[in-house]
Amino acid sequence: MKIIAVGRNYSAHAEELNNEVPEEPVIFLKPDTALLREDRDFYYPKFSKEIHYEVEIVLRVCKEGKHIAKKFSSNYYDAIGLGIDFTARDLQAKLKEKGLPWELAKSFDHSAVISPFIPKKEIENLQDLSFSLLKNRALVQEGNTKDMIFDFAALITHISKYITLRKGDLIYTGTPSGVGPVQIGDVLEGFIQKRKMFTCHVK
Ligand code: MG
Repeated sequence: MKIIAVGRNYSAHAEELNNEVPEEPVIFLKPDTALLREDRDFYYPKFSKEIHYEVEIVLRVCKEGKHIAKKFSSNYYDAIGLGIDFTARDLQAKLKEKGLPWELAKSFDHSAVISPFIPKKEIENLQDLSFSLLKNRALVQEGNTKDMIFDFAALITHISKYITLRKGDLIYTGTPSGVGPVQIGDVLEGFIQKRKMFTCHVK
């Protein structure tokens, strides 16, 4: 399986990092070794002094597809989860400055927290789905899928022009504003609406 992630998909977040609001989705990949499941602890890596959390809605792909038309896109994911796209912001800033790929800042081991999944049919309105992240019990990020620049259909159509989607792939759909640093000892808790999706201890 592969993890496809979307950058700058909420305009308020693009602005907080002084990035332009994109005309096309910004896409990058994480390997399967990035996954951190089942509320396992996140160990702060030695190569960074500025790891940021980014809470994101995650789509689980349920069948293979290429060149997927918008009107059929919803057939290609069957469940929604919540994740964190951990980012080594200091390393990313250096790479961006040099115009180099972001992979080392985004794709390191355990940089992709993932919750259990909710079947899509249990969700009333995917276009109006709120989600949030607490750090040490304080609200730090709050988003709603209605504020995405590119909605789920647009993302699936765009990605599948270039990359074949396969059953089991995950799509991290971008983070709202409010990203920030974590420190050893922090506890991160993710919610979709009022439903607790994951807990992650930073060690
Ligand atoms: Mg992200």
